[in-house]
Amino acid sequence: MQTKIVATIGPASRSREKLKELAQAGVSIFRLNFSHGSAGDFVDTIRHIREIELELASPITIMQDLSGPKIRLGVLPEASITVTKGMRLLLGPSALRSGELPFLPFDHDVILESLVEGDRLVLADGGLQFVVTERRGERLAVLEAQNSGIVTSRKGLALPGKDMRLPALTDKDRRDLREGLALGVDAVAISFVQSARDVLEARAIIAEAGRHVPVVVKLERQGAVDRLDEILAATDIVMVARGDLGVECPLPQLPGIQKSIIRACNRASKPVIVATQMLLSMVSSPAPTRAETTDVANAVLDGADCVMLSEETAMGNFPVETVRYMQQIATEAEKMLTGQRQIAEPEGTRGIPQFLAYSACLLAEKAHAAAIVSHSISGASARQISARRPRQRIYAMTPDAETLKALNFVWGVTPVQVLAPENEPSHVNRAENFIEQEPAFAKGDSVVVTAGEPKKGQQPRGTNMIKIYVK
Ligand code: PGA
Ligand code: MN
Repeated sequence: MQTKIVATIGPASRSREKLKELAQAGVSIFRLNFSHGSAGDFVDTIRHIREIELELASPITIMQDLSGPKIRLGVLPEASITVTKGMRLLLGPSALRSGELPFLPFDHDVILESLVEGDRLVLADGGLQFVVTERRGERLAVLEAQNSGIVTSRKGLALPGKDMRLPALTDKDRRDLREGLALGVDAVAISFVQSARDVLEARAIIAEAGRHVPVVVKLERQGAVDRLDEILAATDIVMVARGDLGVECPLPQLPGIQKSIIRACNRASKPVIVATQMLLSMVSSPAPTRAETTDVANAVLDGADCVMLSEETAMGNFPVETVRYMQQIATEAEKMLTGQRQIAEPEGTRGIPQFLAYSACLLAEKAHAAAIVSHSISGASARQISARRPRQRIYAMTPDAETLKALNFVWGVTPVQVLAPENEPSHVNRAENFIEQEPAFAKGDSVVVTAGEPKKGQQPRGTNMIKIYVK
């Protein structure tokens, strides 16, 4: 399988045995959901994963997912409010409750103050929609229900299209990020990102901790989709977070939004994860629906690097079976992806690194190479090669332990750590030594190698060489 599987850990999967089964079934990235805990809750899980990756002798990536400024209603004194279409309700701080209209407690003053007539509010699950029809003073607003449904305490709320300027990192997120980095997480996902500034803030905390783990931007707000170029330039990895994005954007537009985000990420050679409800019915059923099967396959065909499981592995009845299904569906889709077409030429404006990667893929194709081996300190060359979606597996060799874990997000890439690199300064020699020792290659196999070979006395400055090595 060339597509990478991200699995969220929860009660159904956090035992050491289950974690190992999941890794063996094809999970290369485990997601720790900090919406349901803080660092202390994940200490054992992280230790187990580290033991398992040694046992399986293959790198496993741990992605911390910060909860972010999810906006929620406050606590209702009643069990629930039954809302009917056209009903009027009052939204405001708990302290200003009055009996005049059914009251929705909402303790976010900045948002309350910014509401204007005509603003839309959507309750996360159930799809109840409201429109602001009237302002009352500074912090109260009258809402009119656009459809019928039930409101309960702490329901997530979205304001589609409204720019709220809430920073993506809350105080809890900052603390969680520092503690997560200290525990050794390999990547960090930030929720409800609105602008490149959110990414830079996370990067500053990561740098302060002396780490350089990749940042994953969760695209789950319309405003973030609108600013995709700016955000994409700042981030390392993107997640199409269809759960919250599907609340903010009209659902019928979601497939198109998914496709255009993936296309932009592929063009920028940045890994992209498609997330949420991919095999949701498997929470309670041992087999997926036809629609879900098609959704996973289409994500791969769209160009996703990774596909993600949430409830399915966190709290479902069939976590391991779900991963097995996902692995099989992705493998079938990959046959279509690499079998049906020629390797796409990079667009005209692209630079030398893109054309080097393209050339390596063409050469691998023409020479019927068994694999492509790319030695690269930053992993950038492996990402460029992957973006062309070659048929061959890409072995990405790096001496950098953090790059190694970041490469797990990249489609078709098997990360390989170069140990004791100072013993062999030549990157090409390192690659050739690896090919000689790697049992996956038979005598006589040809392998395309890319590396950076600086002149004597020069520092390595990125990939500048492609060759064919015959074992
Ligand atoms: P979540 O993010 O599961 O943390 O909400 C993913 C999504 O919104 O799709
Ligand atoms: Mn979300």
